[in-house]
Order: sequence, then C-alpha cells, then structure tokens
Amino acid sequence: MAPGRVGVVGGGLAGLSAVLSLKQAGYDVHLFERSRLLGGKATSFSVGGVEVDNGQHVILACCTEFIDFVQQVERRDGIGEPLLRLQRRFQATILQPGGDTQLREFPLPAPLHLAASLARFSAVAPGDRLAIARAVLAARHPARDGETFAAWLDRHGQTVAARRAFWEPFLVPALNAPLDRVGARDALFVITTAFLRAGAARFGFCRVPLGEIAERAGHAADRVVRRAPVTGVEETAGHVSGLRVAGHLEHFDAVVLAVPPARLASLLGEPERFGVHGLDRFQTAPIVDVHLWYDRPLGLDFAAVLDSPAQWVFEKAPGYLCCSMSAADKYVSWKSEDLVDLCREELARVLPALRTAGFRHGAATRDRDATFIPLPGLPRPGPRTAVQGLVLAGSWTDTGWPATMESAVRSGRAAARSLISQLGEIDG
Ligand SMILES: Cc1cc2nc3c(=O)[nH]c(=O)nc-3n(C[C@H](O)[C@H](O)[C@H](O)COP(=O)(O)OP(=O)(O)OC[C@H]3O[C@@H](n4cnc5c(N)ncnc54)[C@H](O)[C@@H]3O)c2cc1C
Repeated sequence: MAPGRVGVVGGGLAGLSAVLSLKQAGYDVHLFERSRLLGGKATSFSVGGVEVDNGQHVILACCTEFIDFVQQVERRDGIGEPLLRLQRRFQATILQPGGDTQLREFPLPAPLHLAASLARFSAVAPGDRLAIARAVLAARHPARDGETFAAWLDRHGQTVAARRAFWEPFLVPALNAPLDRVGARDALFVITTAFLRAGAARFGFCRVPLGEIAERAGHAADRVVRRAPVTGVEETAGHVSGLRVAGHLEHFDAVVLAVPPARLASLLGEPERFGVHGLDRFQTAPIVDVHLWYDRPLGLDFAAVLDSPAQWVFEKAPGYLCCSMSAADKYVSWKSEDLVDLCREELARVLPALRTAGFRHGAATRDRDATFIPLPGLPRPGPRTAVQGLVLAGSWTDTGWPATMESAVRSGRAAARSLISQLGEIDG
C-alpha cells in the first residue's frame, strides 16, 4: 500500500487543483491556508456590502485547464448552470475619443480568422496593420535568448502607433509588465496560443464570485485548516516527513508547497538544501481594479481604452463595470475615491452612454504583488525538489504560461502528477 497522507500548503488555485487531483488518485489530503479565505489571488470579498473579485480575472478560451478545473467543480457539486461565461467568438472593442473600432474573429481557419478584422482595424494606418499581421505570423519562430519583447517588436518593424493600439493593450495585461521588461519568449507564447488558433482568444469570466469556486473546490479536501501559516518543512533521510504549522509538527507522507516564491523562501529557510534555486530572482508587479456601479445596463462587452490608465473595461453584470489597470505601479498607492473618479472620467470620455447613466457607487481593489514579471531568461522551477515526496506548485513555476489562473491550475495538476509518480496511486 502506498503512503497516503498529503499536506497541501496554500489554498490558491494551484493548491486547490492539486487537492482535486490528489483526491481523485485516492489520497488523504489536508489543506493549510494562512488566511481565512480560499482562492489566494483569485478570491472575492465584500466591499461596501457587495461581493467583488480581487481583480477582474478574465480568461481566454485557450485556458483549457482552468476551464476544466471549473467544470470539475461543477460536476462535483452537481451544478447545472455553467459557472463560466465565454464569448462565442472573439471580439474586443477599442475605445478612443475619435470613435470605436473592433477586432473580431471570423469563422475561418487560423490565421485568417483574425486577418479580415485586422485589415479594417482603423486604430492604426494600413501600413501598420500589415506590419502587425506579419509580426503575429513571425511569432511562430523562436525569439533570441534574453531578448525583451520591446526589442523583438523593434526587430519586427513595429511603430509607436502599432504598439499603442495593438501590442500594449493586448500584451501588457497578459503579462502584467511593460513590454521592455518582459521576455520575448513569454510574449510570443501568448501570441501563438491566443491569436494563432481559431477560437482561442475568446474572452470569458466567472459568473459567480471567484471565492465561491475556490470554496467549492476546497470541499474536496479531507480537512481544510484556515488561518494556518505553515512555517517549515521536515525531512528525514531525503524524504519529506512533515510540516510545521502554528508551532507544532504534523506528520505527512508527501507535501505540495503551493505558495508564491518569497513565501516559499521563508518557509524553506534554506531553499537550496531542498534543491530549490533562484527564488530571489522573481519580481512582482501590481494590478489595480476599479469597480463602478451604474443604474442601468450599458451593453458593454470587453473593451480596451486607448491611451488611458483605465486600460480595459467590461460589464461583469448589468450596470457593473470593472476597469483593470495592469502594471499599475503609478496608481497602486492612489486612494480608492481618486481611482474611482479617474476611471469615471476616463470612461465618460469614450462611452457617451455613461454621461446619462446614474452613477451609484464605486470601489477600488489592488494587489501590489499581483503577478511575477516574466523577465527575459527567468528560470522557473518545475514541481520536483531534491527531497522525495516534496513538490512545488504555483502560477510562477515552470508551466510555460504567464502568471494566470491557467498557470496556477496547470502547476497544481503537474505537482499532483509528480507526487503520484513518486508515491503511486492508492487503490480503493
Ligand atoms: C488583481 C489581480 C488580477 C488578476 N487578473 C487575472 C486575470 O485576469 N486572469 C488570470 O488568469 N489571472 C489573473 N491574475 C493572476 C492569478 O490570479 C494568479 O496567477 C493565480 O490565482 C495564482 O494562484 P496560485 O495558487 O499560484 O497562488 P496564490 O493565489 O498566491 O495562492 C497562494 C496561497 O498560499 C497561501 N499561503 C502563502 N504562504 C502560506 C503559508 N506559509 N502557509 C499556508 N498558506 C500560505 C496564500 O495565502 C494563498 O492563498 C490576477 C491576479 C491579481 C492579484
């Protein structure tokens, strides 16, 4: 009989997806979460009596593992209504004072599915449209070692106008960092995964608060311990043997550590002793979200606001607009009321319907360390460590994806697979 008591540290999507996979394989799974909420970065809380998500949390249809994770939760809890909403076809409105334009997908094979729309993309001159199309196709070829995406854009003849109207609106939020700080490889991954496959770029979001999905996933664990910061890992003769939780030792046959790099470093004390290297190379960037409630539906789907700190806006529920400000170093310290005023003014500039709609209230949420920056050449560890039975998960680990919910779910599943291959499946 294989040993079966597993401790999972961190109740974010990485930890929760590991829990679901390990339960499916028959393990006895104990989840430890330092805060009172499950979901980690993808959670929700009450702001002025309204449940809001910690950030806008958009997905694309290419986030197949996250979508599968949510469907796993639906099946487990027998939920009839889908918890996710996905566009039937990719469509994004580009808002600017001179008039809107749209990018949308046509029912054609890739890459033609976006070509027709790009050919009419009036936010840039015809020469830039052609240059953007060429660069999208060139994304299939590998980038140079250590190259930033800004350098790659230079090499592919992208003008300031093309960056402003296309590359920045799509790639800065996807990677949550300025384009001169991110690796070209990570950006090309996003382009090929989202734009070079028909149907892949369709936007979506959760129809229920993210915290609800996390709580439902947490039900799969045999035990969930909240407000339980894990402070250390015990190993005996090269095999993990337990966790230090709130001053006492709990025995485990295997452990998944699904916490961000800085927390992992302090939890392990000497990460190198566990074969974990380079944690101090991870840097983070902030995201600010501004939530605005109006007295009527505005009929707005997903829209980028050009040359505006509001960046992206969508109507999450009738009359409820979310603005997402990525790489928001400049705004993260602003007071909530100033952020609300800023976004209201920015949106009123480009959305005439707002001038007559009654504003009810607004709120801002922010996370200074929202995601890690995919710096050029940043090494990301895989799930395995030098200690038998001890594996890592987290959206920052080596999934190939930027810091997204998709990456978190992929990492949790990969960690579970690695443990199962080390320990074996449990029968019965
Ligand atoms: C504002 C914002 C907007 C975002 N927008 C999007 C988006 O639109 N689309 C998208 O796909 N992604 C988005 N993301 C990114 C996405 O939310 C994250 O990449 C993903 O949720 C990270 O999951 P994780 O499980 O790897 O880490 P985390 O969510 O950070 O989970 C780690 C968990 O471990 C717990 N923990 C830490 N230390 C300990 C300890 N010692 N003991 C016990 N528990 C511990 C933490 O409390 C936390 O719950 C956004 C993130 C933010 C913050």
